[in-house]
Amino acid sequence: MSAKHVYFFGGKAAEDTGLDAKGQKELLGGKGANLAEMCRIGIPVPPGFTITTEVCAAYYEQGKKIPEAAVPAIEEALKKVEAAFGGRKLGDPADPLLVSVRSGAALSMPGMMNTILNLGLTDASVEGLAKKTDNPRFAYDSYRRLIDMFGSTAMGCEHEKFEHEIHEMKAQKGAKLDTDLSADDLKELVKRYKAVYKKHVKDDFPQDPKKQLFLAVNAVFNSWNGNKAIEYRRIERITGLKGTAVNVQAMVFGNMGNSSGTGVAFTRDPNTGENVFYGDYLINAQGEDVVAGIRTPEPIAQLNDEMPKVYEQLVGIRSTLEKHYKEMQDIEFTVQDGVLYMLQTRSGKRTGTAAVRIAVEMAKEKLIDETTAVKRVAPDSLNHLLQPQLDPKSDIKAVAQGIAASPGGASGKVILTAEAAVEHAEKFPGEPILLVRKETSPEDVAGMDVAKGILTSTGGKASHAAVVARGWGKPCVVGCDEVKIDEAAQQITIAGHVVKVGEFVTINGTTGDVMIGKVPTIAPSMTADFATLMTWADRSRKIKIRTNADSPADSLKAREFGAEGIGLCRTEHMFFGKDRIAAFRRMILAEDDAAKTAARKEQGILSVFATGDYFATVEVEREIDFGGQKQTVKTVEPAITARERALAPLLGFQRADFIGIFEAMDGYPVTIRLLDPPLHEFLPQKDNVKGAEEVAKQIGVSVEQIFARVDELHEMNPMMGFRGCRLPLVFPEIGDMQVRAIIEAAIEVKKRGKSVLPEIMIPLVGVVEELSILKKRAIAVADACMKAAGVTVEYQIGTMIELPRACIAADKIAEEAEFFSFGTNDLTQMTFGFSRDDIKGFMPTYLKDKVLPIDPFQTIDFNGVGELMKIGIQKGRTSRTAKHGQHLKIGICGEHGGDPDSVVFCHKIGMDYVSCSPFRVPIARLAAAQAALGDTARDK
Ligand code: PEP
Ligand code: MG
Repeated sequence: MSAKHVYFFGGKAAEDTGLDAKGQKELLGGKGANLAEMCRIGIPVPPGFTITTEVCAAYYEQGKKIPEAAVPAIEEALKKVEAAFGGRKLGDPADPLLVSVRSGAALSMPGMMNTILNLGLTDASVEGLAKKTDNPRFAYDSYRRLIDMFGSTAMGCEHEKFEHEIHEMKAQKGAKLDTDLSADDLKELVKRYKAVYKKHVKDDFPQDPKKQLFLAVNAVFNSWNGNKAIEYRRIERITGLKGTAVNVQAMVFGNMGNSSGTGVAFTRDPNTGENVFYGDYLINAQGEDVVAGIRTPEPIAQLNDEMPKVYEQLVGIRSTLEKHYKEMQDIEFTVQDGVLYMLQTRSGKRTGTAAVRIAVEMAKEKLIDETTAVKRVAPDSLNHLLQPQLDPKSDIKAVAQGIAASPGGASGKVILTAEAAVEHAEKFPGEPILLVRKETSPEDVAGMDVAKGILTSTGGKASHAAVVARGWGKPCVVGCDEVKIDEAAQQITIAGHVVKVGEFVTINGTTGDVMIGKVPTIAPSMTADFATLMTWADRSRKIKIRTNADSPADSLKAREFGAEGIGLCRTEHMFFGKDRIAAFRRMILAEDDAAKTAARKEQGILSVFATGDYFATVEVEREIDFGGQKQTVKTVEPAITARERALAPLLGFQRADFIGIFEAMDGYPVTIRLLDPPLHEFLPQKDNVKGAEEVAKQIGVSVEQIFARVDELHEMNPMMGFRGCRLPLVFPEIGDMQVRAIIEAAIEVKKRGKSVLPEIMIPLVGVVEELSILKKRAIAVADACMKAAGVTVEYQIGTMIELPRACIAADKIAEEAEFFSFGTNDLTQMTFGFSRDDIKGFMPTYLKDKVLPIDPFQTIDFNGVGELMKIGIQKGRTSRTAKHGQHLKIGICGEHGGDPDSVVFCHKIGMDYVSCSPFRVPIARLAAAQAALGDTARDK
């Protein structure tokens, strides 16, 4: 722990921590470190001090008590602030210093923790402030705000209780706005607020300013572990921080009349990334008024007309800050009686589109280098550029317009509260939700998280809804005052049109348009900046990025996104087409002819797909009943079985699909997995009689026959049942047909002059024998195909590693496998013993109670599943090199292949490639580049 608990800043100096920028941020929090830095570079900042994050950690270690040594340090620092700000004393009845007490962790968590403003006002000092400023209205307004904030955040008395009083007062006085209340009204309101405080806190509002200060510091520390802060850290995956710092800073006032004001701004447009000054301000207001979205503020450029000098100074600061931090900044400022003060600077949250443009333009402006640009963009934020946009050809017209706060289009069912949104998402997973609120607050983050888009009727570009939505890449429209919300009636009106809860509304976060109904979406278009950034990323990347695709269209899409091959083609997806499923179902229902099977085995006939001879015959011994006399006779019959006959049409379909995929992938490797899921997944289940009737008609059997087969195939744990390599081991003709389709397709494409690299992948192998038997058979089929065509093609046979046993026995398996591909969906399922389809009941609790830090189906469980993967890689590679002198190619094709943190892990453990869905390919490319470059920028 650092020897010092408290660091002072003010004037043109700040106490030195002796740490580098990263250490400084960890100790003082982002806000504290930046306040100190602004002082050092000569930007006007009101004096203050920062209580370190280590004190917060100690506070929790000591059972929520500020460590003793920190108390005198805080008192000392307060004296310095008093001296630096005109000698005013905290709580001085004649001329009081007021301070703000704010949180600030190393990573920004906007609005998630507590803030208390105007601290130091008491019954005595409020009079002093009124006299000194000659503005009793302002003094009492500040005092009532303090009682509210202090009561609600430090002492647990609900904010609504105070709000109720101000509403009553406004109604009594016929006041429309808060600013319509007079000084006397506010004086009276202070009395009422104190009564509310006393009633709920069971004590008087503290008249000792130091007591206020220490209680406020406690409140900020407590808010570190408040529900919304915990929830935010979970969603943003923020872990490993010590706690929050506390910043105590002299207050300046933006609400002292028309020569005062306050604002928030970004040094570049956080939606588009354009290099323009972007933000809002309000005259005669306090900072919270802008952020909370209660009043709709003015655009920053207009400040040039109202306060030209201040505007000019602000524009200068914008440029100083960008040059200093070499990063887009989000700033807060207050003007008190014409004097500008900066209250905060931090790197600004931005959309993915903006992140890319800013990084590329800053590199071109030589503010940063290309490598820094690559590190700057959070891979997941690219989602934003890859988001569908509303189809411009749609004839659904906008009925209202709000402020375009976060780009992209979203259609969703209207839901009016965050709780209802969370409930709806749990009940109807996958149903799109549009969260419609007057304004959002940090309490709403869980609801915002499950929503597809957010629409608010008040607030500006820097309102809570806008900032959070932008950070998460969700479409958002704010300040749409034509939206009126009626929670009691469970409906909204948009420009007079009534929309009930549960009906569809669409927002266009790029234009601010609001439409009633559902608007179709189209694929996004890539920008030139995006292409540039990807080129820079590819220069650093060490591992390859493939895609999971099972159609030529998906393969082409993935190529556009930069995929360098297919890591997983799930062949079962090809059986679901209308014309194919009937054949597949016929195959499942086909009866085994035991005598023919036995005869074929004896005569060494593998399958018609292995030989390619569909007219081959076999000599079968059959027992025939000659009028009560049984006799064994030898008959010559077609060798083809009923199952093979059913499968035959699928060979053509699969071959054609593979030809399309190989052509689309044009020389890149294509890993094709043999059939994996249990067969019952292809039949209608027993509660679906109508479906069964249709299928029965389609394939010419009875419903009873179908259900009898469903009964036979029924399993208690199908994910651990008859699937994966177990299928072709029992029904070899299925595997034979697939291998033939792959090899014949490869031959055809090769004949067309293209190069092909098929990789045949056998799923769910646990023991090497499973692989060696199937491999031998696949080679026989491939050899037959190539011999018949007189063309040879290169191909490989490998396996998925998706069972813990496969990791442990990887050395043995690698003697046979030419490549490994980690199927981390199953590997996670089998390692934890969590059914991948049934985590709904416990995973939310596991995450909330920190049983697990993160859903292991989303990000690789590094310590468990990850360790098994390391064993698999180490054993597999060592054995392959020893036995065959070959490098064992290893990749991943589970969902984790598109998760940035997992991609970094895969890079670290030495994989050759990751494979993910087409839309995640750019994300994986960027994550892989960042992994190669070290240090990533997760604090965006
Ligand atoms: C896996 O298990 O990770 C995998 C890719 O296979 P599937 O999801 O099809 O079981
Ligand atoms: Mg699997």
